[in-house]
Amino acid sequence: MKAIVLDQPGKFRLAQMDEPPAPTPGEALVRVRQIGVCGTDFHALRGEQPFFTYPRILGHELGVEVVAVTSDEQNISVGTHCSVEPYFNCGHCSPCQRGKPNCCVNLKVFGVHIDGGMREFALVPTARLHPSQTLSFEQLALVEPLAIGAHAVSRAQLGAGERVLVVGAGPIGLAVTQFALLAGARVIVMDISEQRLAFCQGLYPTATCVNSGNDALTELQALVSDDLPTAVFDATGNPHSMKAAFSYVGYGGRLIFVGLFQGDVTFHDPYFHSHELTLLSSRNATSADFRRIIDFIEAGQIDLAPWITHRASLETIIDSFPQWLNRDSGIIKGVIAF
Ligand SMILES: [Zn+2]
Ligand SMILES: [Zn+2]
Repeated sequence: MKAIVLDQPGKFRLAQMDEPPAPTPGEALVRVRQIGVCGTDFHALRGEQPFFTYPRILGHELGVEVVAVTSDEQNISVGTHCSVEPYFNCGHCSPCQRGKPNCCVNLKVFGVHIDGGMREFALVPTARLHPSQTLSFEQLALVEPLAIGAHAVSRAQLGAGERVLVVGAGPIGLAVTQFALLAGARVIVMDISEQRLAFCQGLYPTATCVNSGNDALTELQALVSDDLPTAVFDATGNPHSMKAAFSYVGYGGRLIFVGLFQGDVTFHDPYFHSHELTLLSSRNATSADFRRIIDFIEAGQIDLAPWITHRASLETIIDSFPQWLNRDSGIIKGVIAF
């Protein structure tokens, strides 16, 4: 079979390799059909991904078709189209036992810590496959990035009509915005890129999109005066933005870090205390997030068509990748047909 191997930073190779063996109980052999590309892949390509080893087959946002499975399976059979939940947990550690599989201490993310989906065939645990009868492979591939946003919103437990701020209008911020709107929140989105804000406004006309370039707090207060948002999502992974975000949260509110960076975040404790803030992190997503998103897309409540701005194939992706890395390309989501 064909595979795209990242041999070292900046060096992809189209490789020929053996197909995986027949599945054992609890596994399915899948034919990979569509792959979404995100910041994690770009970081790996640039050699900026911590705890990352080469060579590696990337690909964790996947729309797949089941081609072989043992007779034990109930919901999965040959021909089933699925989204892959790429967080392979151990099932027996303490967080797994406590219903936090997304925080498994032995977590292996398919396409990050272990070889992923940029190959024609792969073995995947059937428990990590989420089928749909109607979604396209492109839609199935985009369930994973949406799930990151959906999980963050479920962490925040938003109330209907609640005022919410989303900092960062990249794909994760867009996903957070999507699910905050579905939860009935009134959403403000901030970014420093006019291009991204315009895209977000087109996608979500009911959101208020604001350029935070000059002074974000002043811009925010101009909109809401002293009635600051009670849930603030930082989807930038930028330490300056994450630190500043504390001051955007109103009394009794929550700050949710969706993005992450490798370092320390500091904050002014008197503000944190006087406002009785709650700080939440959000890691990966859960099976329930995947199933909920598939239901939303099937019901026509989420339109993914505008998200896909760039397309490539197995044959063209190695040449397309450098262009997709360029922020000026206007990329929101690139997908690869395999
Ligand atoms: Zn991703
Ligand atoms: Zn575990």
